[in-house]
Amino acid sequence: MTLSESHLPKHAALEQFPASEGELLIGGLRLSLLAARVGQTPFYAYDRSLISSRVSQLRAVLPGGVKLHYAMKANPMPAVVGYLAGLVDGIDVASAGELKVALDAGAKPQEISFAGPGKREAELRQAVASRVLINVESFREVAALEAISSDLGLPARVAVRVNPDFELKGSGMKMGGGPKQFGVDAEQVPLVLAEIGRAGLAFEGFHLFAGSQNLHAKAICEAQQKSYELAVRLAHDAPLPVRSLNLGGGFGIAYFPGEQPLDLAPIGDNLANLVERASTELPQASLVMELGRYLVGEAGVYVARVVDRKISRGQVFLVLDGGLHHHLAASGNFGQVIRKNYPVLIGNKVDSAETESVCVVGPLCTPLDLLADRMTLSVAQVGDFVVLLQSGAYGASASPQGFLGHPPCAEVLV
Ligand SMILES: *Cc1c(COP(=O)(O)O)cnc(C)c1O
Repeated sequence: MTLSESHLPKHAALEQFPASEGELLIGGLRLSLLAARVGQTPFYAYDRSLISSRVSQLRAVLPGGVKLHYAMKANPMPAVVGYLAGLVDGIDVASAGELKVALDAGAKPQEISFAGPGKREAELRQAVASRVLINVESFREVAALEAISSDLGLPARVAVRVNPDFELKGSGMKMGGGPKQFGVDAEQVPLVLAEIGRAGLAFEGFHLFAGSQNLHAKAICEAQQKSYELAVRLAHDAPLPVRSLNLGGGFGIAYFPGEQPLDLAPIGDNLANLVERASTELPQASLVMELGRYLVGEAGVYVARVVDRKISRGQVFLVLDGGLHHHLAASGNFGQVIRKNYPVLIGNKVDSAETESVCVVGPLCTPLDLLADRMTLSVAQVGDFVVLLQSGAYGASASPQGFLGHPPCAEVLV
């Protein structure tokens, strides 16, 4: 074990969470008190004031005419969805299960949209009955919706999700361009539009989502502009005027050293330009942004406790009561190509002078259960709190909680 007096590396995300007497404050609460309130570790905590300041930050930059939606798969905790439903203009769901949470949360059906490949017949039926906007992604969905609409006496509200003929450069996950299971290939959209018209469905617009976790404003602006132009071309074949043009999102957050936060200003300028063009080219359309990670990712932390402290051939291991079964993304197994350390700190020893290089691991019997690899942290003992920042998106619900039969994590909105 080597002790050093060096300063701990500070992640920009830490600015959002102040400390008092060496202890992290979350939603203004001391971490140890919050843990006592939750009644267990591990847990996720989401700070509602950080969520609302993120929404205000976006509102300040987005032109007035642009609607802001929350893509709830990033964090489907009902309290979070309920809180956000009161702040944004709509909720995007990706299953009937999410649709139920959004409706329960009080989101108006008029402001809910439903995307996702492989929507089952029963899900489509629930969506039509709920009168939400369905982003159709295949000819099969159009046929199924025709039958459901006539059965329920209610024309399905539909938009066409388009798989564009370009990719979003520099995205963590590409969700459009080339062969994809998402949406209808741009070149087939005229045929789908003809089917929608023939079936008498209530056509409302287009949905394009090119990719996720992008930190490059220039690439996002380019994708938005190309998406807009594609939609204008496709609108010539639409059975009804375009009322909604969902340009996706893909806004990323900075997780790793060297990453710069996304610069929103050029995105706002670009959208202002598109709103201006739309006023003549698609006069009835509202532009929509749908963001998941960007709204909630930085507002959440994952908290676990040190169960064991071991030294193996000179390397210190902190073994936690939580791990990849709660936080798959931090282990580097949620779509990442190269594993990198999330920002991690010892939450009850935030500014300790004694530091050391440690591996932080979970309790699972697999070497994949690695939450921080040789990272410089305050020296920690059994019982101390380990906190992972940038953990508000794709956390609990995106992790294999059943794997190895350990207890599930708790979640709290503070
Ligand atoms: C996942 C998803 C989102 C949210 O993506 P983020 O990168 O979390 O913002 C938005 N729209 C659709 C259609 C999605 O599938």
